[in-house]
Amino acid sequence: MVQIRSVGVIGAGQMGSGIAHVCALGGYDVLLHDVSEDRVKQGLSTIEKNLTRQVSRGIIEPAAMEAALGRIKAAPELQTIGKTDLAIEAATEDEEVKKAIFKALSPHLAANTILASNTSSISITRLASTTDRPGRFIGLHFMNPVPLMNLVEIIRGIATDADTYETAVNFAKSLGKTTSNAEDFPAFIVNRILVPMINEAIYTLYEGVGTVDAIDTAMKLGANHPMGPLELGDFIGLDTVLSIMNVLYEGLSDSKYRPCPLLVKYVEAGWLGRKSGRGFYDYRGEKPVPTR
Ligand code: NAD
Repeated sequence: MVQIRSVGVIGAGQMGSGIAHVCALGGYDVLLHDVSEDRVKQGLSTIEKNLTRQVSRGIIEPAAMEAALGRIKAAPELQTIGKTDLAIEAATEDEEVKKAIFKALSPHLAANTILASNTSSISITRLASTTDRPGRFIGLHFMNPVPLMNLVEIIRGIATDADTYETAVNFAKSLGKTTSNAEDFPAFIVNRILVPMINEAIYTLYEGVGTVDAIDTAMKLGANHPMGPLELGDFIGLDTVLSIMNVLYEGLSDSKYRPCPLLVKYVEAGWLGRKSGRGFYDYRGEKPVPTR
């Protein structure tokens, strides 16, 4: 089995920065890369803010925070990620973007580097086939927010070898996470079930069955969900929700997965949820206000 000491994270958005956070806290040396240098800066400051919160809540010691921060470095060039033991891609949920990243990275990889994608829905087998090492490629699907959520879904592509699988499971466990195996079918387990529910909540809004507030209140109090489905869609990112619905719709050729036109409209407007300041709620004021 490959000994993982260093981890490269590609994409410094909400997931990439969360993954970098838990890896550094778990004792790994971390390189964080993004096409946008600003996103890396933002990611690093989010990590510092979230570690500080963990210290103030007594979850970690101040020394652990300092050590973790010392282990994370920005990597302006994608090539440098190739020298890490495990490279985890957490860029935008777009198959072409992910394939381009793996193609660009492949010539710079060390012989033993394992490649992983944090994709929410895209075929691991297809992504792996764009690299020089489908046997050393695996899906490591962390949940949002990464420091708080205990699950990592593990997805083997058709060519993923047994060593890579064992290394990935042990790696996730070393971060204190629990793993669950999913076969490589569109959106795996969690999002196959969760995202159509969010899409259905958007249809419920679109058809006027309830307001944003009524739908979220109904599901929080009526189904005991900690967040309403529209609030959760905003939290995940509506662009990501739409991409996952498209992967389900196209991958399973079943009309029951068609994305709600209202979801498409919000994404077209750039109303992507929390990360852009507006989605089914407007987050720009003191407290979130429904946008419909
Ligand atoms: P995000 O929009 O917060 O971040 C995506 C980042 O990728 C951005 O910083 C963007 O600049 C960067 N990026 C785009 N193209 C790139 C490239 N060519 N090279 C390097 N970086 C690039 O999105 P996110 O929520 O962090 O999602 C990232 C991945 O994690 C997606 O595959 C998503 O499906 C998956 N995921 C998301 C969630 C969630 O709840 N948001 C949960 C689990 C998995």
